Amino acid sequence: MVVEKVLIVDPIDGEFTGDVEMEEGKIVKIEKRECIPRGVLMPGFVDPHIHGVMGADTMNCDFSEMEEFLYSQGVTTFLATTVSTSLEKMKEILAKAGEYILENPSTSLLGVHLEGPYISKEKKGAHSEGHIRPPSERELREIDFPTKMLTFAPEIESSELLLKLVERDIVLSAGHSIATFEEFMKFYKEGVKRITHFPNGLKPLHHREIGITGAGLLLDDVKLELICDGVHLSREMVKLVYKVKKADGTVLVTDSISAAGLKDGATTLGDLVVKVKNGVPRLEDGTLAGSTLLFSQAVKNFRKFTGCSLTELAKVSSYNSCVELGLDDRGRIAEGTRADLVLLDEDLNVVMTIKEGEVVFRSR
Ligand code: FE
Repeated sequence: MVVEKVLIVDPIDGEFTGDVEMEEGKIVKIEKRECIPRGVLMPGFVDPHIHGVMGADTMNCDFSEMEEFLYSQGVTTFLATTVSTSLEKMKEILAKAGEYILENPSTSLLGVHLEGPYISKEKKGAHSEGHIRPPSERELREIDFPTKMLTFAPEIESSELLLKLVERDIVLSAGHSIATFEEFMKFYKEGVKRITHFPNGLKPLHHREIGITGAGLLLDDVKLELICDGVHLSREMVKLVYKVKKADGTVLVTDSISAAGLKDGATTLGDLVVKVKNGVPRLEDGTLAGSTLLFSQAVKNFRKFTGCSLTELAKVSSYNSCVELGLDDRGRIAEGTRADLVLLDEDLNVVMTIKEGEVVFRSR
């Protein structure tokens, strides 16, 4: 298969026009040539933080429904994300996700992002307090394939036990936390260089104790997840983060819940009741409960809010997440890499999604 006459956007090689040839799931040839491009070709998007979409929910193990819909968003790799729950429920979700991945070798479901339960009760957001707890050796023995990421609060009791998960290639991400700068630094020195939905669920920046919010802005090699829906962060905050962190330090996520893509109404997130009004999901007390953001909209918003280049957009929507997750086979448009691609029109609407060289979505 050949995609002809497109503006190719690679996070490393930049932007140029030409054709991309694929064979057996991989990009085999890139032909640079002068032409009037009929679209923008970018590496398939990666969403490492998504709870659900279109009625499908990680907590109900609706992986195939999530996968199917996410192709319409250009997403070719995602982490189904849980909320704080019992060990039994976590084991059930991991077992079913593992089964799904083994049965569907070309699935876009890379694995599971466990958001909690080892987080701060003070910054619980939309996690049910009854499930929030410190980690234990016994529990951590159960957290394995296909867990790829875990969001935790550095300051909680026994949090150091979580460092063992790094040996299982699980990426630790700090979030839902009131950690001080020093508490975060203990983990930073051990390789924790990522912050979940920055700075939602964190202490606001204080000039005498900068906390995780300050650490995220100060330390160049810490990557920040951003929910770019215009609700979780103001446009100015997105601009500020981009100015300080640049595209290299930023990762787009949706943090969307099952209500994403549906009309306003009542839904659930784990055990909690969520009401969606004007597309914004909140608990009874007004706390934001995930988002209804779709990935292609996050991409458009980030470009609109920051004025970034397309090359930078390829970093925040795909490449940076691939690097964090150790996926060196994708996130690029280069010969030899996986043919996971998204073709966009000039307004960045998804026209076609390609997964391992196969067309999995076409808008028209
Ligand atoms: Fe969260």
